Amino acid sequence: MTTSTASAAPRTYEVRTYGCQMNVHDSERLSGLLEEAGYAKAQDGRQADVVVFNTCAVRENADNKLYGNLGHLAPVKAAHPGMQIAVGGCLAQKDRATITAKAPWVDVVFGTHNIGSLPALLERARVQEEAQVEILESLEVFPSTLPTKRESAYAAWVSISVGCNNTCTFCIVPSLRGKEKDRRPGDILAEIRALVAEGVTEVTLLGQNVNAYGVEFGDRQAFSKLLRACGDIEGLERVRFTSPHPAEFTDDVIEAMAETPNVMPSLHMPLQSGSDRVLRAMRRSYRSTKFLGIIDRVRAAIPDAAITTDIIVGFPGETEEDFAETLRVVRESRFSSAFTFQYSPRPGTPAADLPDQIDPAVVKDRYGRLVDLVNEIAWEENKAQVGRTVELMVAEGEGRKDAETHRLSGRAPDNRLVHFNADFSQVDAEGVRPGDMVTVEITYAAPHHLVADGPVRSVRRTRSGDAWESRTAAPKPATVGLGIPSVGVPAPLPDVPACG
Ligand code: SF4
Repeated sequence: MTTSTASAAPRTYEVRTYGCQMNVHDSERLSGLLEEAGYAKAQDGRQADVVVFNTCAVRENADNKLYGNLGHLAPVKAAHPGMQIAVGGCLAQKDRATITAKAPWVDVVFGTHNIGSLPALLERARVQEEAQVEILESLEVFPSTLPTKRESAYAAWVSISVGCNNTCTFCIVPSLRGKEKDRRPGDILAEIRALVAEGVTEVTLLGQNVNAYGVEFGDRQAFSKLLRACGDIEGLERVRFTSPHPAEFTDDVIEAMAETPNVMPSLHMPLQSGSDRVLRAMRRSYRSTKFLGIIDRVRAAIPDAAITTDIIVGFPGETEEDFAETLRVVRESRFSSAFTFQYSPRPGTPAADLPDQIDPAVVKDRYGRLVDLVNEIAWEENKAQVGRTVELMVAEGEGRKDAETHRLSGRAPDNRLVHFNADFSQVDAEGVRPGDMVTVEITYAAPHHLVADGPVRSVRRTRSGDAWESRTAAPKPATVGLGIPSVGVPAPLPDVPACG
């Protein structure tokens, strides 16, 4: 009898992620957990032995899409003995046992509070040959203590809190992610230092409502103190955060942003609506005057700040006058970009049961007008960048047409995307790696990106570039347990509101 080499090969996995940055970061943890448990990432085009869906309940028709995807996998599973399917994330938290009732070929359902159980649940499902559904009502372990397979060598998400104490009526997050839980500042800073030691030079502090950070341990200024403490971390070049809630935005945060050199001049602050009446119906406790006041103070303290936002059009009861208020606030705010959404009811949210749901044709029309205005302003703001010299952090995978245009792409300090000419003739450098820094002059502006078509002015090779290089040379990134992260490729941009 011969020993099968195939039987010695590790089982492979694939994680499919839907939704916001929280899910993107949770998926890094799911990958880390699976690799620590001995699984290997499936190669592109190869069927994985374990497929994990990290779902989102915020997206429209999320459940239909999930069951459609699960339906496609049923025959694949039947043809691959031993294959397992797991469903986690917000939709799993919400639908629980319904998932295995509707799709009995699913092996594991786990919630937002127990992602650490995934390997054990997969094993139990395999041994007991029956589906395992485990949903907890509250968090047992702060997820940052779980092993994490970081997707980027140079930029990393760092959770500072999970959950949210607000009750915005359109949002499913509070019922699925629970009350806000804050991580201790020392743990956050230790994680960032560990990341920097591995070559990361940019971190994005992540929470549903970052400026409420500290509510659990009773420090109203905890977030601004955290930003300032990030400023003391040697080697950390760029600090960003998402998302703050306008109601809790205090001036100490603006001062900390302005006075901490590595906190970048960019702010993503969700507006949602410019109408005070609609904000009240959304149960968002700030009003348009407060929102505009924050923007004024941010611009006074940080003149180059690029401000972005999230806006929902067609909330139940929104009149043409309410919508005109949103357009007014957009005009006055001069956002450099905005994630815009057409409201549609999400089952399980209070707004889904409100009377006066708006005719979809009206919502579509308003949405079109809003997008036109947002784009017009974003383009004007981008044109004002032409002629400026900026230092970019070279990015990976952000320029879809880079190969045909012979350009590379990078992010400016204000987070604007810049495609630059890969012309290094004037500098003493052969090229650059993702994570390195280049200085370029902006020559052209489009509504959603900038172009620098002159030669690169200077190149600064960084530890992030080194980390990227060693990571790409290595067969696969290592995972390290107990909250000490490893490194890997950039995270996708969000396609749902970032909350806050
Ligand atoms: S929109 Fe943001 S702030 Fe409002 S409830 Fe949802 S997570 Fe909390």
